[in-house]
Amino acid sequence: MNPFDLLSAASRREFVRRLSLGLGATLVGSSALGGPLSWLEDLSYGPASLGALQTGRQLGVALVGLGKYSTGQLAPALQQTKLCKLAGIVTGTPAKAAQWKKQYGLPDQNVYDYQTFDRIIDNPAIDIVYVVLPVGLHAEYVERAARAGKHVICEKPMAPTADECRRMITAMQKAGKKFSIGYRLHFEPHHQEMMRLGQQQTLGPIKSLVADNGFRFNNDTPWRVNKKLAGGGPLMDMGIYCLQGAIYTKGEIPVSVTARLAPNPDPKGLFKEVEAGMSWQLQFADGSVADCRTSYAENMNSRLRAETTKGFLELQPAFGYGGIEGRTSQGPLNLPNVPQQARQLDDFADCILNDKPTRVPGEMGLRDVQLLQAIYRAAETGQKVSTREVQQVLDKTNRR
Ligand code: NAD
Repeated sequence: MNPFDLLSAASRREFVRRLSLGLGATLVGSSALGGPLSWLEDLSYGPASLGALQTGRQLGVALVGLGKYSTGQLAPALQQTKLCKLAGIVTGTPAKAAQWKKQYGLPDQNVYDYQTFDRIIDNPAIDIVYVVLPVGLHAEYVERAARAGKHVICEKPMAPTADECRRMITAMQKAGKKFSIGYRLHFEPHHQEMMRLGQQQTLGPIKSLVADNGFRFNNDTPWRVNKKLAGGGPLMDMGIYCLQGAIYTKGEIPVSVTARLAPNPDPKGLFKEVEAGMSWQLQFADGSVADCRTSYAENMNSRLRAETTKGFLELQPAFGYGGIEGRTSQGPLNLPNVPQQARQLDDFADCILNDKPTRVPGEMGLRDVQLLQAIYRAAETGQKVSTREVQQVLDKTNRR
């Protein structure tokens, strides 16, 4: 559903009035726990974006790597975005290039392979490079995109190591271009509501959290169990959502972690290089904890739940591209599922057009890789590992 459809006639009139005045189109509603449409406040484009909407100007996005996520999610999302559009592709497979050119009407000069990619520097039709490759290749392509002077989105997790993350951040700073991580759920209404309710302690301070996210991996994308290409197993791929969810609901970065590897059902086969599963605990400064689980050997009901002093907050299913459902001890969260990737992409375009910081910067990607590495260290050593040194960056809710 288009978020605009949810507005009352009065809100729509106000939106159009502000649009015509060139003001930020902040939308306000009233709702369940402090404003039903309060998440729509995030749909507040800056003046340059409102101008772009009026003239129809859209930033050009080039997808690097045309695998499952690009094909199934990002390219379709780029047909729904308003501030940016699919303008180019980078692929090593000529048959895919031909098919995408036809399907999306892409001109020859906007189609690259991994060797010709650097020539993108000369292409003014491409404003944003979106790196959607196996994790172990993220750093190389982000650095090359930086050298080409493009804004960049890099898929999660940012890289196998914190050193690579730092290199990527430095390269993007040197380029003077915007850089974000593909953290789609920061733009999703249920997750934004968890942030708001948790961080503002609407139902009291959080005492504990649980988060689960895992699936039975069938080796359809073999790089995911290749240590060099994936950086790790399900913790890197799926567990990162539990980590993030706990952090933005609590509104704090943990001070230490403990962890335990799950039994490995195939140590000589599928899971010889990466873990089959992991359970870990995040410990926060006030003594509260988040117990999290992930797996490539078990289909888990994805969930994110917080116990508070006055009740609970919960999403289940929690982390998919759609079908997210939420409830609190006061009742269901009546929020819509929206096109997550389209909102994420348009938000990044809005940040570029208005020179605003993104809420999901490279530094947040670095923070999470540092925490993931600490979790692996805790699992290897059986010891509690301090995380006080990790990058201090948070998506702080600014909603009431
Ligand atoms: P995929 O295997 O389907 O696609 C990877 C693409 O990279 C393929 O087109 C492949 O041809 C290309 N590639 C180039 N060099 C390669 C190499 N050396 N080895 C293997 N593939 C190579 O994977 P995917 O599921 O599309 O994941 C791609 C990225 O997107 C990963 O970073 C992943 O974590 C991320 N992702 C994010 C989400 C999300 O919800 N944000 C969801 C899925 C995947």
